[in-house]
Amino acid sequence: MIGDHEVTAAEFPAFVYDLRELDAHVAAVRDALGDVELYYAVKANPDPELLRVLSPYVDGWEVASGGELAHVRGLFPDAPVALGGPGKTDAEISSEVFRLHVESPGELRRLLATGRKADVLLRVNLDLPIEGASLAMGGGATPFGMDPAGIDECIALLGGQEAVRLRGIHAHLASGLNAAQMLDLAAAVLEYARSLGVSEINLGGGMAVSYADPSERFDWRTYGEGLAHLRRPGEVLRIEPGRSMTVYCGRYVTQVIDVKRVHGELFAIVTGGTHHIRTPATKGHSQPVAAGLPPGEPITIVGQLCTPKDTLARHVPVSLTRGDVVEFTMAGAYAWNISHHDFLMHPKPHFRYINSPM
Ligand SMILES: *Cc1c(COP(=O)(O)O)cnc(C)c1O
Repeated sequence: MIGDHEVTAAEFPAFVYDLRELDAHVAAVRDALGDVELYYAVKANPDPELLRVLSPYVDGWEVASGGELAHVRGLFPDAPVALGGPGKTDAEISSEVFRLHVESPGELRRLLATGRKADVLLRVNLDLPIEGASLAMGGGATPFGMDPAGIDECIALLGGQEAVRLRGIHAHLASGLNAAQMLDLAAAVLEYARSLGVSEINLGGGMAVSYADPSERFDWRTYGEGLAHLRRPGEVLRIEPGRSMTVYCGRYVTQVIDVKRVHGELFAIVTGGTHHIRTPATKGHSQPVAAGLPPGEPITIVGQLCTPKDTLARHVPVSLTRGDVVEFTMAGAYAWNISHHDFLMHPKPHFRYINSPM
């Protein structure tokens, strides 16, 4: 049973998305944010069924490629889109979007050379201490955005012309930060934006999720209240979270093919693996397993690939035998869409959407 639904063995492995859970979660996030604009970072999971649930709650979409732009336009032709990404092609730079996030002076020169009209945010990488982040896109030398000298160069380039309008600043500096850490960063970014005299500030995504403790959730209420406190009249604040929006609504459900003991350690091999859900391999964590399995000797759960990287979870204290169904939680973001699907040519997973709120 998954939610209210019976799923048969022939349907494993499967991604199962609980759309009602997603709807309730995003409604709560939206409610906590007050006047702060909410964009969804489509790269976290571009599944159209999920985007349809998100759409009433978001002010727009953050896309990072021409492919994502076409995908979103196909689904929501009139919704505002912000296009970012560090390596934009000429075609991407020339896209008509609500906001273009400029990543370098070189990119801005190419945009200006087209003579096209555009509304831009300049992506800044401020030299801030970023502690506790799981990924750092800023706070030091990285290929993302510009340091303040690069921003100054852009502002000089924008002088004496009208086609490209500077709307404000974009900052996506780190991921995996809690509400208090995110607010500290926001305060620094706002101070910098004010020093430039701009009033539209995109504070990025990266709100923390915990794979070690799925019940530990980002404190949206505190974050929303904190931003309301930081915001000055006339300022537009925008965020663009991805993972923290969709990660909780998805499960990867699979089935045990074999159990064995090798050099004293227990292993369960399940159908599918990290070619469907690469997240545990890329982040080096154990994908959380849903409650409900009987307790047992710690067992390492691996997939069908011929590589030791195909480990889904290590030393899980549950008892497993052939035929048992294992549900991995927190599989709704950066899972299927970041995985190397064709490696070993195993079948693709099934996709199920349960508890539709519509
Ligand atoms: C990936 C990304 C996001 C979303 O990050 P999450 O950690 O999924 O919230 C937002 N903005 C930019 C520019 C990104 O590259």
